[in-house]
Amino acid sequence: METYEKLLEQAYKEIKPIKASSERFEIPKIEGHLEGNKTILTNLPQIASYLRRDINHLLKFLLKELASSGKMHGSQLILQTKIQSSKINEKIKQYADEFVICRECKKPDTELTKDKEFLFVHCLACGAKHSVRSKI
Ligand SMILES: [Zn+2]
Repeated sequence: METYEKLLEQAYKEIKPIKASSERFEIPKIEGHLEGNKTILTNLPQIASYLRRDINHLLKFLLKELASSGKMHGSQLILQTKIQSSKINEKIKQYADEFVICRECKKPDTELTKDKEFLFVHCLACGAKHSVRSKI
């Protein structure tokens, strides 16, 4: 008789791998809670890695856009003001539109490249390259 672990292993093997290109691009929603006058966000690193962007870049953008000070404590972002999660989600979407999504083919398979003082979004899907503001 097969062990439970063996059966599980087999089950996993039968699951077809999802092709990266057919996955829907859906930014994870921000998770967190309010604590007194602060907002604690717990999944910003996951969102940064989903967007394949440096968390410091995303963080800088968010702090500026949300007009709040804040900093990372481990994997948590502690904002010094109370901010609705819907507003944070909206700003993350704005970030993706500006720094992640290709303007030509609308795909998220891009990288940020730097050329002198200019910053570009370079699309790995269609090869398009467009400049974005280098100073947030
Ligand atoms: Zn593209």
